[in-house]
Amino acid sequence: MISVRELTKVYRQPTRDVVAIDDINLDIDDGEIHGIIGRSGAGKSTLVRCLTLLDRPTKGQVIVGSQDLTAVSDTELRNARRRIGMVFQHANLLSSRTVAENVAMPLEIVNTKKAERRAKAIELIELVGLNGLEDTYPAQLSGGQRQRVGIARALAADPDVLLCDEPTSALDPNTTEGILNLIRSVAERLNLTVVIITHEMSVVKNLCDSVSLLDAGKILESGKLSEVAGDV
Ligand code: ADP
Ligand code: ADP
Repeated sequence: MISVRELTKVYRQPTRDVVAIDDINLDIDDGEIHGIIGRSGAGKSTLVRCLTLLDRPTKGQVIVGSQDLTAVSDTELRNARRRIGMVFQHANLLSSRTVAENVAMPLEIVNTKKAERRAKAIELIELVGLNGLEDTYPAQLSGGQRQRVGIARALAADPDVLLCDEPTSALDPNTTEGILNLIRSVAERLNLTVVIITHEMSVVKNLCDSVSLLDAGKILESGKLSEVAGDV
């Protein structure tokens, strides 16, 4: 599903260049939940931005499905990005919009009709366990509920891939467990491929089928959780 080939990202600086991602290869199968774990400065944020081409890699390919995102036009790239739902550390909801309006935002961008947006939002709000909260505002919700809204919004455009960047780092352990269970259940139900970026081994152990260990821009190890987890 996702194939990363010889990916390199160098930040050019006046005094010295920073090699944030250093010749990474990565293969993630359809339906797999893959964790990318690394400490602060390892290159996780850079890798996320390169996977969605928000940052242009200095070198290498990012292939999603059969499409090489580094080789397509801007229009094709915009369409391809819709196939990747993004979940962030903080849900990044718009405070002036209701839960349903936040969830439907990706559909607004593609000009889906209002009634259809509302119907899809309600369906997703139920899927993430927030039934009845569609007309509340983000400020009325707990951190865990806000993250559920963020997950629902990530699913609005029917993506194939869910890319989660530190989705539980701002949450307490109980709330974290609920969010990880939710990610697993929606992934199974909607047949998604999931990439989860984290600095927490517990997140990987609770959720992932396979894991890559990122350090100083390189993948030190990659494999099934049972093969790699013992070494981390
Ligand atoms: P992580 O998300 O794992 O903390 P980052 O991807 O943010 O790691 O950073 C990886 C390395 O690249 C770090 O050395 C960081 O200082 C550097 N870096 C990240 N973004 C930039 C940038 N825009 N310009 C220069 N250096 C950067
Ligand atoms: P995180 O670890 O969550 O990525 P950081 O504090 O490392 O947070 O980075 C925050 C932002 O600053 C990112 O957009 C990153 O690209 C940028 N950044 C990080 N390191 C540098 C750097 N050395 N020079 C310039 N920008 C940087």
